[in-house]
Amino acid sequence: MRWTERQLAMLKEIGIRLWPNPGLLAEQDRFPLPPSSERGEGEAVALPEKAVAVGDRPVGVDAMDWPALSEAVAACTACKLCTGRRQTVFGVGNLHAHWMIVGEAPGEQEDIEGEPFVGKSGQLLDNMLKALGLSRHDTPSPDPARQVYIANTLKCRPPGNRNPEPEELAQCEPFLVRQIELVKPKIILAMGRFAVQSLLRSNEPIGRLRGRVHRYQDVPLIVTYHPAYLLRNLEEKARAWDDLCLAAETAAGLAATA
Ligand code: URA
Repeated sequence: MRWTERQLAMLKEIGIRLWPNPGLLAEQDRFPLPPSSERGEGEAVALPEKAVAVGDRPVGVDAMDWPALSEAVAACTACKLCTGRRQTVFGVGNLHAHWMIVGEAPGEQEDIEGEPFVGKSGQLLDNMLKALGLSRHDTPSPDPARQVYIANTLKCRPPGNRNPEPEELAQCEPFLVRQIELVKPKIILAMGRFAVQSLLRSNEPIGRLRGRVHRYQDVPLIVTYHPAYLLRNLEEKARAWDDLCLAAETAAGLAATA
């Protein structure tokens, strides 16, 4: 890939160091210091549990349209995470986006704002997307090829930002499956091991799965590190950037043959 001055400036901003290649010479900056917390989203605060009974998942998720799906998620009490959430975090972005990004679970900030990836890892994600000319925000005349839809494997925040549990992932999975069916993305970026486990049914480490094109149903899927992991392991940012470039090249190749 060749980079414009603007893209290079943006990459420098987010601490991605590119080695010289044709048409490119990036400055070799120091990476910024990492934040300390688990998902990179500030202190984990245990919320008081609400008096909500854990019940059944709504039926018929696989046939729901967007409004029904979003209502079903908002009302879901299928696992114990419903007792600690401020609100559910459904998804964000253009409903016809060519790109779908799948993360893990809401953190504290997402639980407060009701939108995925609004904390520190979200800032990193947005900046990386911006460097590729992609955005979660609709413009007056959005081009779906430049838009992303972002969703998580879990729609509720695990307390203290702990890892999702298998039962929680299983209960929440049909919502994500339906979101993917409705968006019909041309490319999926699975970030982190829980997204990868859900979509590829693989327990292989990210390092072994990244760097090639997988498939979810018929959709090309690229595996990459979770942005919160990148905030703690700065040396992996360049690999994550390679993954995004692979996704962009795959999407562009698909567009050219369409
Ligand atoms: N991490 C995730 O995986 N998803 C979010 O929405 C925020 C942080």
